[in-house]
Amino acid sequence: MTKYDRVLLKLSGEEFGGGKLGVDPDVVARIAGEIAAVSRAGVQIAVVIGGGNFFRGAELRQRGMDGVRADYMGMLGIVMNCLALQEFLEQRGIVTRVQTAIAMGQIAEPYIPLRAIRHLEKGRVVIFGAGMGLPFFTTDTVAVQRALETHCDAVLFTKNGVDGVYSADPHLDPTATKYDELTYDEAISKNLRVIDQTAFTLAQENKIKLIVFGLKPEGNVLRVVEGEKIGTLVSS
Ligand code: UDP
Repeated sequence: MTKYDRVLLKLSGEEFGGGKLGVDPDVVARIAGEIAAVSRAGVQIAVVIGGGNFFRGAELRQRGMDGVRADYMGMLGIVMNCLALQEFLEQRGIVTRVQTAIAMGQIAEPYIPLRAIRHLEKGRVVIFGAGMGLPFFTTDTVAVQRALETHCDAVLFTKNGVDGVYSADPHLDPTATKYDELTYDEAISKNLRVIDQTAFTLAQENKIKLIVFGLKPEGNVLRVVEGEKIGTLVSS
């Protein structure tokens, strides 16, 4: 028995690159294995991927680029991650659909929420690409928005190199402590940066659970959907 019927998994782009620019096929293949295990357990799963392994709008903006164009580059980078994940899921025999917020008919369906729900009901893994299709957003916020619109029970955030929400960045502050549970109010008032604040606010307004955890050890995504308490639960 799993705890959730339908979840949205948010993966960071940095994870896909294995710390470098571009896509590391070994890493993506391993993540695809985790998603396949969840799907085979009978849980409907949709995915939002970031694009930090290609371009982050904020970084390009700091280097003198027009911010809007930089954000669109970020969104296009995300689509490459989506196709990579689709490839490795299909290699495992999992049926997938990529839906993008910016139309690109040769490689993906347009984002149509009711159609996405139908795919999920049929057991297909739906990968949402190109973010929200709008500059000035990040994929954390997109993850919560897509989860709400497709009626997911929870948003599972995997974060690069951390196994939950900490009082400060554990890479920079050795005294940082991990929270097992947090309320939305606490996450917002403490200005915790592990997920962006807009995403916390949207989740709070709509009371959708967030679970923040690390991809190591292997099998964590399945553990979370089975109800094992790992990482940090953010709820009301
Ligand atoms: N982006 C955007 N609108 C969106 C989603 C993403 O403009 O709806 C752009 C933005 O420039 C962002 C980049 O795409 O920096 C990559 O996404 P994100 O930084 O969320 O990726 P992650 O940090 O999760 O890898």
